Amino acid sequence: MKLTDMEIEGKKVLVRVDYNVPIKNGMVEDDTRLRATVPTINHLLEKNCKVILMSHLGRPKDLLKKGKSVEEMQKELTLRPVAEDLAEILGIDVAFVEDCIDAQIPNENDVVLLENLRFYDEEEKNEIEFAKKLAAHADVYINDAFGACHRDHASVSAITKFLPCGAGFLVEKETKQLSKLLSPERPFVAIVAGAKADKIGALKALADKADKILIAGVLANTFLKAKGIDIGASKFDEETFSAAKEIIGLAGDKLKFPVDCVVADKLENGANTRTVAADSMPEGWMALDIGPETIESYKDELKDAKTVFWAGPLGVFEMEDFSHGTKEIGEFLGNLNATKIAGGGDTGAAINTFNLADRITHVSTGGGASLEFIEKEGKLPALVALEKAYRKAKEE
Ligand code: ADP
Ligand code: MG
Repeated sequence: MKLTDMEIEGKKVLVRVDYNVPIKNGMVEDDTRLRATVPTINHLLEKNCKVILMSHLGRPKDLLKKGKSVEEMQKELTLRPVAEDLAEILGIDVAFVEDCIDAQIPNENDVVLLENLRFYDEEEKNEIEFAKKLAAHADVYINDAFGACHRDHASVSAITKFLPCGAGFLVEKETKQLSKLLSPERPFVAIVAGAKADKIGALKALADKADKILIAGVLANTFLKAKGIDIGASKFDEETFSAAKEIIGLAGDKLKFPVDCVVADKLENGANTRTVAADSMPEGWMALDIGPETIESYKDELKDAKTVFWAGPLGVFEMEDFSHGTKEIGEFLGNLNATKIAGGGDTGAAINTFNLADRITHVSTGGGASLEFIEKEGKLPALVALEKAYRKAKEE
């Protein structure tokens, strides 16, 4: 249900947000996800609600596996710095509650943030009893955590069984924008690049949906190698080989690969670099950006597009020497008269670095979630759970 259609006046509202943000030395490095939830929080405050925010942060299990103690892990992954940053953004006090289940929620604050949900294993196990305990904090549940909607976890899934539910403004906006990719105005061109292999599922769906798919980044190296091309010392992902071959079979000549690339002898600014054809990378050198011919040919593929999906930087954009492909294609997109939707943490960072944010139709706050949205035709576990809850409420 839409937040604006819900009866919430004066209620205690439990809001699942995605504050899984980079934190360094106790400081929030990128507060985009915090700012993205401000419309929902302010709306609730205007309706005199008590706003109880909850989120996960990082992967506690990974730190424990690396041998950290529970105390060390909890010190590293506490949401406390986020509460401080949020207070600054909202301009009001935000009380931090040191345990998401077993702690008193202060009466005097209108906005509180509960400690990291993943400090309890039950969160990721989607445990009913845990969800029930979370629900006991409030009268109403709002999901505004788009970046976590592809998870079947207690705070986005099981919890919908225990409270009247709704989607926050961010989840509403994200689903509305990303739905444009499911029935796109054509031509629909997808740029799939970056380093993470989590893009394979979406690529399979795009093989069918998109008119063109432009590949770059580490992903391009993986595809080129899977095609039998020598990629020198370039990074690639061996585990994606068979999927890459499958996608080549599915997408055929919709798939476009770099024809040239910038190679370097080291992964650093100021390294020796050369521009070479993609099929003649020198031994010991690595491809870190697409070359000028590829930039031109990709612009040509994009120029008539009416819908563009962009997932993944086209090179190591963090280093000036290897940022040209991402910058030039990004700027070209900025000026393109089309629906332009981007997803992914690093893609978002690139968009900010090159000041493109106001010229991209929508930059998703969810990397994995936006990819799975395409892969699953919008049927993300948390969104399905919300739908179920709405239907049940209607029947009653
Ligand atoms: P997103 O977060 O947008 O989903 P990814 O995490 O998949 O994107 O990939 C981003 C990273 O990929 C960036 O840190 C970038 O430096 C790296 N990258 C892009 N192209 C290359 C390349 N050719 N070689 C090595 N790293 C690359
Ligand atoms: Mg990333």
